Amino acid sequence: MHLIMLGAPGVGKGTQAKKLSESYQIPRISTGDILREAMQTGIALGLKARSYMDSGQLVPDDVVIGIVEERLHGEDCATGWILDGFPRTQQQARELDKILEKLKMSIGYVLNLEVEGEEIIKRLSGRRSCEKCQSAYHIFFNLPKKDGVCDSCGGRLVQRSDDREGTVRERLRVYKEKTEPLVNYYLERGILKKINADGDIEQVFKRISSHMQ
Ligand code: ADP
Ligand code: ADP
Ligand code: ZN
Repeated sequence: MHLIMLGAPGVGKGTQAKKLSESYQIPRISTGDILREAMQTGIALGLKARSYMDSGQLVPDDVVIGIVEERLHGEDCATGWILDGFPRTQQQARELDKILEKLKMSIGYVLNLEVEGEEIIKRLSGRRSCEKCQSAYHIFFNLPKKDGVCDSCGGRLVQRSDDREGTVRERLRVYKEKTEPLVNYYLERGILKKINADGDIEQVFKRISSHMQ
């Protein structure tokens, strides 16, 4: 199973990708998580990515393509994977095709999660993320068992700096300009599945699962 999660920031890609990853026992590859981990450990990759991420811009294509290429060669990716937050530009999509051709793999489905703008803002502005493991929670829709503490690792829940209002607006603009065109790219290839991502997390997961049979 080889899946791509597509959709605006905050639509619920990471949340659904995690559930799919558990249910199908395949790794979730989140370029955002990988970049934030690099920022935390202070390695060169993180230093390079920080200024782009903090201002809501995309990290340069060659950087993220390199990350994904290396990751897809991992042993755990042999039976399948879920790409979450990649590709985000036409260049990334074309390079992914080349990488997959070399690996003799092909994309099964591209799941395009769709909800209207107001709901996206609600999801993004209430998102809280674990400092340690990056799990996402929500102040109204997805509460941790203990206030401010991650259920899975006990880490502290914080608001990502790029989830603040000004940066959110820029990320949504960048999404429309650079990432939304990928919907047609995959639609034309007949592998895009449109998913109504309105409703609670379980409802959306059921809709996605019904496409997986
Ligand atoms: P969200 O899903 O909320 O938009 P992500 O965690 O996927 O957040 O991404 C956070 C930031 O990391 C992006 O705004 C961008 O700066 C960077 N990033 C993640 N994935 C990519 C990518 N494929 N190409 C370029 N930049 C990326
Ligand atoms: P993305 O990876 O697309 O940026 P996330 O999976 O991080 O999005 O979800 C964004 C926020 O919305 C998180 O706080 C998450 O808990 C919450 N969320 C995810 N799915 C739903 C849903 N179906 N209904 C309400 N809130 C949701
Ligand atoms: Zn955690």
